[in-house]
Amino acid sequence: MPCHCKICGFEKPVTSNFKRWPGIPGFKLDFYPVTQRGLPDGEVMGFICSRCLQSANKMRSYTKGMMLGVEVSRHAVNRYIERTKADIDDFDRGRVAVIRAFSKAKKIKFKDEYTVKRIISNNYNYVDYYWVGDLVFVVTSNQPKTIVTVERLWGKKLNEDFFVL
Ligand SMILES: [Zn+2]
Repeated sequence: MPCHCKICGFEKPVTSNFKRWPGIPGFKLDFYPVTQRGLPDGEVMGFICSRCLQSANKMRSYTKGMMLGVEVSRHAVNRYIERTKADIDDFDRGRVAVIRAFSKAKKIKFKDEYTVKRIISNNYNYVDYYWVGDLVFVVTSNQPKTIVTVERLWGKKLNEDFFVL
């Protein structure tokens, strides 16, 4: 019986009937089963191909960022491009990239002494910090939440120099 993507219709034959993941013979990573509640012992409701899944994941990050209602300053976009060496030359694409990266970031707190310095250098505006990979997003505490800049960790260490909240 053929296995096909519920989204784009991409089709590929599989050898026999099955009800449950992962009891699918000859199965490769071209398709991912969508089960009830996304659990491996759930009944398979259909399949999504790897390309559609990748698009969905990208859109998920983007939508999540949008739903957080976060604004992005031009400065933050420029710093992001500079720090990640991303090959992006326009503001809108840069903004999407920042939101996408930000949506994966966790809120952190730096050691007190460092935080005090940062409050001063940000003209006494309170900011929150979010961290992902080697990047730190500096975000206003007040509404509208705005990503004011993007910095690098510069070797600061989790659970020593900063902590996940
Ligand atoms: Zn597809």
